Amino acid sequence: MTYLFELAPVPVLEMTDGSARFPVGRIFCVGQNYAAHAREMGFEPQRDKPIFFTKSASAVCLSGSTIAYPPGTANCHFEVELVVALGRPAFRLPAAEALSVVAGYGVGIDLTRRDLQNAARDKGHPWDTGKDFENSAVLAPLTLADRFGAPGAQRITLSQNGEIKQDADLAQMIWSVPELIAELSQLYHLAPGDLIYTGTPAAVGPIAPGDRLVGSIEGLAELTLTIADPD
Ligand code: MN
Repeated sequence: MTYLFELAPVPVLEMTDGSARFPVGRIFCVGQNYAAHAREMGFEPQRDKPIFFTKSASAVCLSGSTIAYPPGTANCHFEVELVVALGRPAFRLPAAEALSVVAGYGVGIDLTRRDLQNAARDKGHPWDTGKDFENSAVLAPLTLADRFGAPGAQRITLSQNGEIKQDADLAQMIWSVPELIAELSQLYHLAPGDLIYTGTPAAVGPIAPGDRLVGSIEGLAELTLTIADPD
């Protein structure tokens, strides 16, 4: 049996201790999970239900990369986020048990074509072209959960060309990591390899060719990304 064309490789993340590598399955993302960011997007923060959306595994971009400024946008934004990497299955899991399925944590950037996202949002259309595009799921190497501990008040920052733009702590999340896993596990049979982008704090902003972005979370490996001219 042959394939009609070459089988696409599964994206793989390094672990900071070099112990093993993490093959990426699905990518779930959370919207408006920090109150100040919800407000800057024009919404009142809410605790009704978390806002979930997805990105394709083909959107993965590894830390250290240089990427072309994305096509089809004049307002592409950085969003630094804690990314949770699942190492065990989870279905209808209570929040109290949810951290037991986490293999590791990493720093991510949810690159967003804000102009396309907002235009879709205003018409009640899907966000996909604003969120799920090539190189939009930027990921640093993962740190084992045991080594990181539990997400608490660790500082999260994003700097652009050496200037800190986003600066918050993980305790400001509206939905905690265990709550997010529990909620998602009501909707999906979560599996090893699945990632969860847990939302961005306030002060998102536009990127430009020539930019160097650095995402940091206390206790995790730093993420770097360089933006080049468009294709
Ligand atoms: Mn985001």
